[in-house]
Amino acid sequence: MKKIRLFTPGPCTVPEEALLEMARPFEHHRTAWFKEVIKDCTEKLQKIFLTTNEVLIITGSGTAAMEGAIVGCHPAGSKALVCENGKFSERWGLICDQYGIANMRCKVEWGKPIDPAVVADHIAKDKSITSVIVVHSETSTATASDLEAIGKICRQHNKLLLADCITSAGALPLRTDDWGVDVLITGSQKALMLPPGLGFAAVSPRAWEVIEANKAQHSFYVNYNKARKSAKQSDTPYTPAHLLVRGLRVTLDLLLNEGLENVWKRVAGMAAATRAAASAMNVQLFSQRPADSVTAFNVPAPVVEKELRKMLREKFGIHFAGGQDAIEGKIVRMSHMGFIDSIDTLGAIAAFEHSLHKLGHNFTLGAGVAAAQKVFVERGM
Ligand SMILES: *Cc1c(COP(=O)(O)O)cnc(C)c1O
Repeated sequence: MKKIRLFTPGPCTVPEEALLEMARPFEHHRTAWFKEVIKDCTEKLQKIFLTTNEVLIITGSGTAAMEGAIVGCHPAGSKALVCENGKFSERWGLICDQYGIANMRCKVEWGKPIDPAVVADHIAKDKSITSVIVVHSETSTATASDLEAIGKICRQHNKLLLADCITSAGALPLRTDDWGVDVLITGSQKALMLPPGLGFAAVSPRAWEVIEANKAQHSFYVNYNKARKSAKQSDTPYTPAHLLVRGLRVTLDLLLNEGLENVWKRVAGMAAATRAAASAMNVQLFSQRPADSVTAFNVPAPVVEKELRKMLREKFGIHFAGGQDAIEGKIVRMSHMGFIDSIDTLGAIAAFEHSLHKLGHNFTLGAGVAAAQKVFVERGM
C-alpha cells in the first residue's frame, strides 16, 4: 500500500472534491455555462487577494503569468529593480534580460529577506527605475519578505510593484489593495490546492495604464491586453485549461468557507509547530526570516539529503523538496500549503524524525512530534 503525501511546496495536495469535479464529463469552453464559472472564480479570487483590481485567469503556470506581466509593464524607457534573494526572483531578472528590459539586480544572500530600506535606497539613487519586482515568499529558501513595507515605498515614489505571491496568496496574510501591489501573480499548484496549469494576475488601474500604453512589447501568448479584453466578457483569448478552472471554483469555495483569516491561521500554526519540532530535533532552519507557507531545514551531518528524501518517499510516501543550485543537497523543504492540517503535519514530522534517526542524526526520538503537538494544543488545532 502506498499513500502519496505531498509536502512539496508545489504541487500540493488537491482535495478530493476538486479532483472529482475535474473528472466529471465536461462541456465546451465557449458556452454561457463556462463564462459563469470564470466570472464566479474571478470574483472569488478577488476575495482571496483582497482586491478590487481586475483578475486574469491564465493558462500556463505562474511563470507564464509573470512573464506576461513583466513584458507588459516595461515599455521602452522603463527600468526594473529586481530584488533577488533566491531561485524564483532570479528567474524574473532572466525574463527581463530575455526581452531586453533594462534592470538592476538588488542581490541578497539566499536565506535573507529583501530589506525595504535597501529598496528605498536604490529607488532614491537611480531615478530611471520605474518598477520593483519582488517575491513575497521566496520558496527556494523558504523566506518571506515584508511586502507591505516594500509596497509603501513603491507608493511613496510612484513605482509599479510587481509581486510574485505564488507561495503567499491563499497562505500568508496578503492585502493587495491596502499594500499597493500593482500586479499580484500566483499559480494554481500551491496554496490554491489545484494541479499545475493555471496562473493568476490581479492588475491595478495604475499598471493597466502602463500596459495599455505599451504598444511595442508584449508576449504573444500571455498578452495582458488581449487577456483583459476577453476577461471583460468572462472569456479567455485561447483555449483555457477549463477543467482546472472548474476545479478552481471548488477549492476557492473551500478556502472562502474556511475563512481567509482562518486559512492564514491554519498555515501559520502548521509552520510554527514545524519550527518548534525542528528546534526540538536539533535541526537548524535555513531561512533568516522563515515564511509560514514552507519551511527549509538544514540537513544535519551525517545525514545525506538524497537518502533522507528517499526514505521519506519510499517508506512513508512523503514528498519533501530539496534545495537548488548552491544549496542543493544542503536543505530539505516541507510545505504548509494545500489540503493539509495539523494531523497531516504531525505525521510528516513523525516520518521526518524516524528518517533522521535512522540516518544517524543524534537527538531524542519523539521530541519533534512532542514539540509540534504542544504548539497545536496551545493553538487549539
Ligand atoms: C512555484 C513558484 C513559481 C512558479 O513556478 P512555475 O514553475 O511556473 O509553477 C514562482 N515563484 C515562486 C515563489 C514559486 O514558489
